[in-house]
Amino acid sequence: MTPAQRAQQRLQELASRLEPALRRAFLAMAAAQSPDRLADLVRLLEAGNIDAAVALLTTTPTAIAATTAVRATWTAGLLRITRDVVRDLNAGGGGWNRRVVVVAPVQSPELIAAVRRWEDGSFARVQSEVREGIRSTIATELARGKGPRAVATMLKDGVGSGLTAYDRKIVGSFRQALEDGRTGDALRRALRDRRYKIRENLTPAQIDTMVAAYERKLVAFRAETFARTAAMQAANEASAVGWHEAIRQGAVPADQVRSYWVVSADERLCQVCAPIPSMNADGVLLGEPFLTPNGPMLHPPAHPSCRCTSYTKRGNPLLRPARLPAVPLPQLATVGA
Ligand SMILES: [Zn+2]
Repeated sequence: MTPAQRAQQRLQELASRLEPALRRAFLAMAAAQSPDRLADLVRLLEAGNIDAAVALLTTTPTAIAATTAVRATWTAGLLRITRDVVRDLNAGGGGWNRRVVVVAPVQSPELIAAVRRWEDGSFARVQSEVREGIRSTIATELARGKGPRAVATMLKDGVGSGLTAYDRKIVGSFRQALEDGRTGDALRRALRDRRYKIRENLTPAQIDTMVAAYERKLVAFRAETFARTAAMQAANEASAVGWHEAIRQGAVPADQVRSYWVVSADERLCQVCAPIPSMNADGVLLGEPFLTPNGPMLHPPAHPSCRCTSYTKRGNPLLRPARLPAVPLPQLATVGA
């Protein structure tokens, strides 16, 4: 196993320790998208004001607190992994000239920037998916002929919250297949629930139960994907923060630090990630983005559930510098003047 692979295994292990807390925080956030007062939600649904209904569900104090808790979990995880990474590198792995200390987040512009990147990037996307999922649930249920009060009650009970609009669509075709008596078709789906006996002519109550079980599995899958991806982002950010601190604290000169994209063994055939190492064969300077098929990227993850890592090390100072930032050349005309 190469040092890069060993470092990857370590980062993946540190990330996996953060996953359960992130998964719980995601599920709590999904469950918190619930009205404080049912009557307010019913009124908005009766008026057909779906936008306002979505806003009502996602901005209650409970929903905001649950969202803040996800953010706090991620930030605490980032700090914890940064400490672990720096401890490893201080022990000799980094080739650092001196011991690096992890400062409090408020004193580290790099930690603050890492949190902001996650919040404005993948976490913002996940929150908008949750909102779009709620919007889609409301639209679907009203279109199925459910009354505003029944829909509001469903949302209050947190049915299906955490699902994306795409999930809502596949739940819809699952239900349709069951209602049409195409049970075999419906149950061949990957997330089928084996507890239910397959037979034709299911009662509406049986269909509802099966659909609810399917929804729960999809929500669990969403939570899992979120936790995996967010934890890997924390681990990669933590590694970068550790090296930034090392440069800032004079443990290593910035021009000797190179980062390499390391594809995870389970992603060798991933079309996005597989070509990235050769696209950046000489490595990049710390803070310089990697070239990827999807455009420049500061570090992995490149997509949901990406298990890649960046491997940073102290390189030979005589190495050709990585792509340098473009510096305007002096105007030739003025040189001769
Ligand atoms: Zn990847």
